[in-house]
Amino acid sequence: MRKAAFFVVFFLSTVVFAGAAEQRPNIVFIFTDDHAYQTIGAYGSNRNETPNMDKLAAEGIRFTNCCVTNSICGPCRAVIQTGKYSHINGFKTNNDTFDNTQQTFPKLLQKAGYQTAIVGKWHLVSEVTGFDYSEVLVGQGPYYNPPMIRNGERVKHTGRTTEIITGLSLDWLKNRDKNKPFLLMTQHKAPHREWDAYPEYYAKYKDRVFLYPKTFNDNYANRTQAVLEQDMTIAETLTPIDLKLKTPNIWNTMTDEQKAEWRGMYSGRQAEFEKVKDDPAALKQWKYQCYMKDYLSCIAAVDDSIGKLVKYLEDEKLLDNTIVVYASDQGFYTGEHGWFDKRFMYNESFKTPLLVRWAGKVKPGTVNNDIVSNVDLAETFLEAAGVPVPADMQGRSLVPILQGNKPADWRTSLYYHYYEYPAVHYVKKHEGIYDGRFKLIHYYDDIDEWELIDLQTDPDELRNVIADPKYAADIERLKKELERQKTVLKVPPLEVNTKNILYDKEEQEKRPQLKPQIERLRKIVEERKKRI
Ligand code: CA
Repeated sequence: MRKAAFFVVFFLSTVVFAGAAEQRPNIVFIFTDDHAYQTIGAYGSNRNETPNMDKLAAEGIRFTNCCVTNSICGPCRAVIQTGKYSHINGFKTNNDTFDNTQQTFPKLLQKAGYQTAIVGKWHLVSEVTGFDYSEVLVGQGPYYNPPMIRNGERVKHTGRTTEIITGLSLDWLKNRDKNKPFLLMTQHKAPHREWDAYPEYYAKYKDRVFLYPKTFNDNYANRTQAVLEQDMTIAETLTPIDLKLKTPNIWNTMTDEQKAEWRGMYSGRQAEFEKVKDDPAALKQWKYQCYMKDYLSCIAAVDDSIGKLVKYLEDEKLLDNTIVVYASDQGFYTGEHGWFDKRFMYNESFKTPLLVRWAGKVKPGTVNNDIVSNVDLAETFLEAAGVPVPADMQGRSLVPILQGNKPADWRTSLYYHYYEYPAVHYVKKHEGIYDGRFKLIHYYDDIDEWELIDLQTDPDELRNVIADPKYAADIERLKKELERQKTVLKVPPLEVNTKNILYDKEEQEKRPQLKPQIERLRKIVEERKKRI
């Protein structure tokens, strides 16, 4: 009798254990480069449609407050791989090289018996590690005929990059070891600059006239010098290649058919440009319209790709046990403040889209406003897979939030730090703290200016109220919180240069290659000052 009871208990525990092992969820992480949340239907876009992204949001959870820790491509990828801030994982700017020997969440999943694959944009310079299968773009990668690196060997593809990345992801899914749970990271180049569209998607947008964001004609008054001295405006920074007045740099690698398609899309641009080129306001609007047509076309191709991947999971009856995530590396400006690009701690680039579908765990149609971050994703995937989260990771698993059980001690503020200066787009180094209502930002390097944004009274982020005495107590509290976070996160002392390269001769001598850009930007800044 006792022996029988023991056997039953033993048998049951074996069944439960085996059952738990089988239930480990698969993870499909679909990731884009520079996708603005404000151009997703589910996030309220008034410019385009994204049915497959919207479906993920309707069947899962949409995070409205997913903040990045450092709004720039490579560094965001390193944060996701490691669950650590840039100053800890070592990849602070796009000029760094990722230390690929360090701990990453795919390596930990691999050790726990997951099959891991990455397809598309890696962008961490060093070789891919942590994946059983990798087929990645070389550097930024082009929109057509991408050379790729398959498990360390260079291979060539002919076709459209977004479709190739989707096809390779599907091929891997079909051929994987079906006895193991898997992680698939499908990482698109799109919709990164220079936004080379594909014709059938371009056809959707070519005749549209897009609404202008409220802050399209921001004159940068009442902000810091950092806003005044950036180089990322639609009016001044977009190039003839961006605007398709010139053929792309990859022209010689394109097939005759691709060239004919490209000409078909863009042959009218020069004539349009001639009509508006002497009227600055009309020219700026035309540039914005071109930018939107191309950018949104690239997003439409990604949206189709999501549909194909989800359909495969559904057809193979994998969808119920697969966490499907859609995110971008960071947000992007689509005309807000007159800008494109990212880097600043203002909403459009500080926040990134995050959609998670997880059947049976996430209540369909959930909208979450908590402060979450890309530094939480590694921890989330590990916990979902039942793998212990290492103590040295700096984010926190979103699994309780996904299941509707927000921990009582969830974070109420987030630390931010951008490092890439002087470099393309000339956004100055800054760190800051965000607490859901305020952003306290410190441009610490060459201008040493503080900025306080009160999102409750200034949701478009147009006024620096740092000198307003009514905020004195808030500023004191936020400064303390900034210091507290920096201690917890082990942020090293700031590297301060103190000289402004736009105006300091000695600083310019150190980087003679930047001279033409600096002279051009200085003239632009003088013009901006006149408009304030
Ligand atoms: Ca990016």
